[in-house]
Amino acid sequence: MTEPALIEQNRATLYNNVGIKKSTQKGVSIILLLLACCRPEAAFLVSAVAHGIGVAPFFSPDAIRAAPVQHFLLYFAVAVVTQIPAYCGLCLLFEKIYYTEKKDQPEAWKCQPKKDLTHRLASLNRSEVRLSIINLCVASAMTCAITVKQICSGGSFVYVYLAAPTDLMGWLRIPLEGAFYFIWIDAWAWFAHRLMHRPWWYQNFHKWHHAYVAPTPFTALGLHPIDLACLQGGVYSFFFICPIHVGAVLINLLYIHYFNIIDHSGIYFESSIPWQATSLFHDDHHKFFHLNYGQSMTLWDRLGGTIYNKTISYSEDKYESAQRAELAKKVSSSKTE
Ligand SMILES: [Zn+2]
Ligand SMILES: [Zn+2]
Repeated sequence: MTEPALIEQNRATLYNNVGIKKSTQKGVSIILLLLACCRPEAAFLVSAVAHGIGVAPFFSPDAIRAAPVQHFLLYFAVAVVTQIPAYCGLCLLFEKIYYTEKKDQPEAWKCQPKKDLTHRLASLNRSEVRLSIINLCVASAMTCAITVKQICSGGSFVYVYLAAPTDLMGWLRIPLEGAFYFIWIDAWAWFAHRLMHRPWWYQNFHKWHHAYVAPTPFTALGLHPIDLACLQGGVYSFFFICPIHVGAVLINLLYIHYFNIIDHSGIYFESSIPWQATSLFHDDHHKFFHLNYGQSMTLWDRLGGTIYNKTISYSEDKYESAQRAELAKKVSSSKTE
């Protein structure tokens, strides 16, 4: 059986990594490292370490406290100047490897092989690229503001800490904090995304993201800035309720950033990470609209009953309430038969 035929036959099973096709993520892992260096948090980590060994008096807490606005602008500029080329470079690399070089075999790699995106990808002057750049600036501004405020308040604004642990228990705590943070962000994303699919939120904000029925890598950040701010709420709110090492924050944000691009790439990717859904899971969200709200895991959709159901006919104007009514009608008619 060919892969597209398998996908059409039983797509929901393909949200887990089933090994029908191995991705080429290894080939782009080097870009992952590049992204790591370009996160604004990484810039702060580097400057903090440099300060710790006494080579960066310009970034000392006293200097930042004396001129917080200037330091915010400096960090913001550094974050934007490094992140935009890294993000655009990764997206363009995916587009080149697949959409250009494998254009003639869409069945071999595309989640939606019948969609021809050649025309949309022809230029960089397109809405998802412009929105991505705006949103990278919005996210960087939020992160830089929190970090400068944290330094100015002497480390009392949020619970993020930088100091290396001094004992074994301290080291064991870091992966636990990271795992808890990951679950928090993933659950938040599901609730926030589901809210965005209520009619008022959808029509006013989230519809921008769903203009891309067949997503491409740039669609990852092609969304309304208010939509982005709601999703980022999960990333920041944790800092105010639970202590977490900056390293655990960095790894999580890098992971999410990377898989956000993978999941919007339009390319069928499987991951060797067992809890990470295949890219088809979110690609189907764009194809069918009001379902599959999860970010990394399918767990929340399975619990909430919002995962793809082949007995429902999905469309953009058929919200969850209409889907439930359709299901109830089918159940009651099958009982009377
Ligand atoms: Zn959505
Ligand atoms: Zn999306």
